[in-house]
Amino acid sequence: MATAVKDSSPSPMMAQYLAIKAEAPDCLLFYRMGDFFELFFEDARIAAGCLDIALTARGEHQGAPIPMCGVPIHAAEAYLARLIKAGHRVAIAEQTESPAEARKRGSKSVVSRAIVRVVTAGTLTEEALLDTRVANWLVATTKVGERCGIAAADISTGMFELSSVAPAALDAELARLGAAEIVSPDPFPGRPVQERRAGFDSMAAERRLRERFEVATLDGFGQFDRAALAAAGGLLTYLDEVARESLPFLRPPSPRSAGDHMAIDAATRESLELTVSASGTRAGSLLASVDRTVTGAGARMLAGDLGAPLLDRQALEARLDLVAAFERDGNLRHALRSQLKALPDIGRALGRLAAGRGSPRDLGQLRDGLAEAQRLHDRLAALPDRPSLLGRLLPALTGHGALVDLLSRALVPSPPIDTAGGGYIAEGYDAALDVLRQTGGEGRRAIAALEARYRQQTGVAALKIRHNNVLGYHIEVPARNADKLMASDSGFTHRQTMAGAVRFNAPDLHEQALRVGQAGAHALAAEAAHLEELTETALRDAQRIAEAADALARLDVAAGLAERAAEGGWCRPKFMDHHCFEVEGGRHPVVEEALKASGARFVANDCRLSEDGRLWLITGPNMGGKSTFLRQNALIALLAQAGSYVPASRATLGLVDRLFSRVGASDNLARGRSTFMVEMVETAAILAQATPRSFVILDEVGRGTSTYDGLAIAWAVVEAIHDRSRCRCLFATHYHELTRLAERLDALSLHHVRAREWKGELVFLHEVAPGPADRSYGLAVAKLAGLPPPVLARAKSVLARLEEGRAATGGIAAGLDDLPLFAAAAKEEPKVNPLAAALAEVNADALSPREALDFVYRLKTLTSDQ
Ligand code: ADP
Ligand code: MG
Repeated sequence: MATAVKDSSPSPMMAQYLAIKAEAPDCLLFYRMGDFFELFFEDARIAAGCLDIALTARGEHQGAPIPMCGVPIHAAEAYLARLIKAGHRVAIAEQTESPAEARKRGSKSVVSRAIVRVVTAGTLTEEALLDTRVANWLVATTKVGERCGIAAADISTGMFELSSVAPAALDAELARLGAAEIVSPDPFPGRPVQERRAGFDSMAAERRLRERFEVATLDGFGQFDRAALAAAGGLLTYLDEVARESLPFLRPPSPRSAGDHMAIDAATRESLELTVSASGTRAGSLLASVDRTVTGAGARMLAGDLGAPLLDRQALEARLDLVAAFERDGNLRHALRSQLKALPDIGRALGRLAAGRGSPRDLGQLRDGLAEAQRLHDRLAALPDRPSLLGRLLPALTGHGALVDLLSRALVPSPPIDTAGGGYIAEGYDAALDVLRQTGGEGRRAIAALEARYRQQTGVAALKIRHNNVLGYHIEVPARNADKLMASDSGFTHRQTMAGAVRFNAPDLHEQALRVGQAGAHALAAEAAHLEELTETALRDAQRIAEAADALARLDVAAGLAERAAEGGWCRPKFMDHHCFEVEGGRHPVVEEALKASGARFVANDCRLSEDGRLWLITGPNMGGKSTFLRQNALIALLAQAGSYVPASRATLGLVDRLFSRVGASDNLARGRSTFMVEMVETAAILAQATPRSFVILDEVGRGTSTYDGLAIAWAVVEAIHDRSRCRCLFATHYHELTRLAERLDALSLHHVRAREWKGELVFLHEVAPGPADRSYGLAVAKLAGLPPPVLARAKSVLARLEEGRAATGGIAAGLDDLPLFAAAAKEEPKVNPLAAALAEVNADALSPREALDFVYRLKTLTSDQ
């Protein structure tokens, strides 16, 4: 039996596709075909699934149909956004010649195509693909010697920072930046990374930076070490790879040193919910509750500020002076904010123009934004006693008059994004363009006049002149009237017969159509040339425009913080040189807002730490407000150094160099991530890194393990913090036994959150008071949680027995006052009755109602075993 031999070599087009695809194996390839981007093979399967579009097939490859799907060009951005969000990279292959040009090369030639850009999460500039209120960092990092270089660029606004950190601090920096994409020669555990080796070379990078920014030396920008430069090299090389021909926008590199800001590691950022809440949303985060900015650029800057609180007292006092000026003067603030609200995002418009993806609308935004900047300048320059920071911002807001003037003359009031239809260059800007438009207009009027003449001439009242993309201008009559025009001497030439109509051409119409067409094409070309020239002119000022954008963002941040302070009755923090932390009437901004929404009031609390009273041990019932108190104080330290007012009636603070927050494992268990191991690793990091200038909150550390282990660890950690780290620390615990530490540790004091039992109900007062809690209230909390009355009653009698036992033996912490004894006790555990042991093991505060019920059943089996 003979089998048909098929030609298995791919079609010329498929061969071209495969060659291009081979250049971008880790990307989905958008292959331009007419008005669509098509995807083939595995790419098509992935995209069809991700985008929920139909998967079809086209032709055959190696005997099998080729899976295919496509997205229309006009909707491509929205589809791209979804693919990028889903974690894909997309290479865009455009047609680089017209079909006519291809035909000239040979009748069978495939239109040539090439990848013009790779779209990745870290290299976006399109409005539709970006979140206006979030910076979009691309980070390149590499290790050189004992330093990790970090190059971070947001090409949507041109921000470009270089730094180097010790390897242990790399994770904290990456967490601060919240990078959209990371490029590195090394794999990173736990983070997706584009692994690239090329370009991470400090010498070559320095040369490239000098060339790019046209300077003889980088000294003018700051000092950069080899690690930072090598990272910059990797970043530039990666940008070449993804942006192809066009150079993305980068401002000169600014040096950033980890020592410039408060060190906050990734675990602390997460636990304090700085920019993302525990449920993964912006809502519920500190940022969301503080942010009252009215522009995207302001929101981006505020997020950056909160992520990197300052250590330089002068710089942060300068920020606070500006906030204070706007806080005092409500009218000024109000006027300023409504002016800012109308501002376009000129930073991002500039980024798009610089990346070669700018539109007439972007130029219009520069025009409007810079004009508004001038008006803001004039208003603010007239203020008496200007804060120093304002004095430094004002020059950036002015001096753009020539560009604003040019763009005002050149552009129509609201220029479009799409250039295809033209019409964005204003009348009167270019006389030649005006003539072309006039010619086109006259031609169209002439055509309209022809319609009337042809009707009269043929007597067909239904005759129309129409236009479409295939025939251009043509005459259309209903089929029943066609005969007259068909006559050989009619002056009309037949073009097309449709179902109910027939189409014709005529010499006069042809002539006018040509005139209109030519004038239109020339006008479009003239407009495009103007657009290019105007873009070039604007970009010559790129650096100054970017500075104006920064200054506007800084004003928005300060006015927004002032607004927040006024709204919440916040106070300006005062800074001291010694390591104090005195807060009166402190509140947790997020919890307070949430309570307010439900009509409840937040109870303000004081916190007073000093060099010889630097550690507070806080006990009290579950739900009493311990965690909230700890966090609110950490947030106050952070807000103050970010240059914000703080939610308190008074705050006197010594600067904090490092902030740590750790939460005992079981609080995190629900999120399925943290374990006791993680808790211990993180605690170890604090003990290794905290200095006397640091601020640490430890929330129920040690709870993730059994009672004995947990208590022992918590005990040792408190001692180490007290004796060795000597930092300011708030330590919340349910281990009542830890209160004994107060006898030995001078700088430790005891506090508790107050609660009261009233008519058998537990009432939380949410007040932090001096002294230890008198009891744990575990049973009252269990009752509150709905544990059934018989179980509660049983637990009560068990507790009574236990407490008798505790009174007799001194409880599980007996002997802890004397450490050697403690060590011995750990070696030989005394034999105990199993019921008592089970009860001693259980942590009533940490039990869910369900677990408590199970536990009671377990107690029952233990008694029946005896
Ligand atoms: P704990 O850590 O002691 O178990 P939390 O700090 O988690 O307690 O607080 C439990 C709940 O009590 C919070 O969700 C909040 O609703 C409320 N709460 C806490 N502190 C206060 C306060 N100062 N004023 C009013 N309500 C508070
Ligand atoms: Mg708690």
